[in-house]
Amino acid sequence: DVLVNQIAAGEVVERPASVVKELVENALDAGARRIDVDLEEGGVRLIRIRDDGGGIPAEELPLAVSRHATSKIASLEDLEAVATLGFRGEALPSIASVSRFLIASRTADSGHGACLEVDGGRVGAVTPKPHPVGTTVEVRDLFYNVPARRKFLKAERTELAHIEDWLRQLALARPDIELRVAHNGKPSRRWKGEGTLLAEPRLHEALGEDFVRHALRVDHAVHPGEMRAALRLHGWIAQPVYNRAGADQQFLYVNGRAVRDRSIAHAVRQAYADVLFHGRQPAYVLFLELDPRRVDVNVHPAKHEVRFRDGRLVYDFVLRTLQDALAQTRA
Ligand code: ADP
Ligand code: MG
Repeated sequence: DVLVNQIAAGEVVERPASVVKELVENALDAGARRIDVDLEEGGVRLIRIRDDGGGIPAEELPLAVSRHATSKIASLEDLEAVATLGFRGEALPSIASVSRFLIASRTADSGHGACLEVDGGRVGAVTPKPHPVGTTVEVRDLFYNVPARRKFLKAERTELAHIEDWLRQLALARPDIELRVAHNGKPSRRWKGEGTLLAEPRLHEALGEDFVRHALRVDHAVHPGEMRAALRLHGWIAQPVYNRAGADQQFLYVNGRAVRDRSIAHAVRQAYADVLFHGRQPAYVLFLELDPRRVDVNVHPAKHEVRFRDGRLVYDFVLRTLQDALAQTRA
């Protein structure tokens, strides 16, 4: 079983940033409002994620670290919708099989917390441990028992940059969440919970003042007959006069999750085709929302990619919406 988990880890856990992503998404799923991320040596030595979410009852801790145990599929009816969100009950056992792992938690209705350690996949016993309501997960010495993987980890600052990139993507999409990051004992980033969906301060911090000054607000929705929910595109794109965009200023979210999608990226570039100089990249923060049953986010276990059931329709919608927005700047 440890071996099966280690093999799964090969898909789920590429580097410290993938661990941070899985743990932070779990915290969000648990309803956290505030998430603390402590890192040492680019996350290779330590990743500690503490949240103020609902917590896990002590007796369920062993379940949380066993394979394909997820608390997120309540009924068979949910299965179709839930599967598309990527709930597979695989992350914790995979991560715990390639690290020195600890999970501590407490729910609101239990008087004290509990803790469970897993060392390279060997699960220990649940022990009592004081803990505020919420959950802490510690991942130490990632890949310590898989030297072949460990040797592919990059320099501390590269791994840290991957983590910060991902957290920045998250911070843009979730201005309601307070996020604190510390590296090697020093606070490195703090995103206050703004509570507003517009997230201007976060936009400012992530893309800079110049982007904000040149950003066009986009918000358009249609309701195709075949979808249960509206197809909506909202966010910001830079006007063509904005000229310091690079690939690091392109943020796309599908149903709230940061993804890479060549087709959408192409639609955005196409919308700019007659106004941008050749080779220049558009800058954008765009949120696409659609019927979750018509998009599969599980193409890759790390969930950076998506597959649309109505690819052409989505492409045309994004293209037209942005063309219209850009046309107005010229009128
Ligand atoms: P999945 O998220 O796909 O269900 P995971 O392996 O990531 O699988 O997590 C397993 C289970 O552990 C979750 O379904 C959830 O019940 C529990 N869990 C993990 N992290 C947290 C957390 N931060 N707060 C509350 N419950 C958690
Ligand atoms: Mg998970």
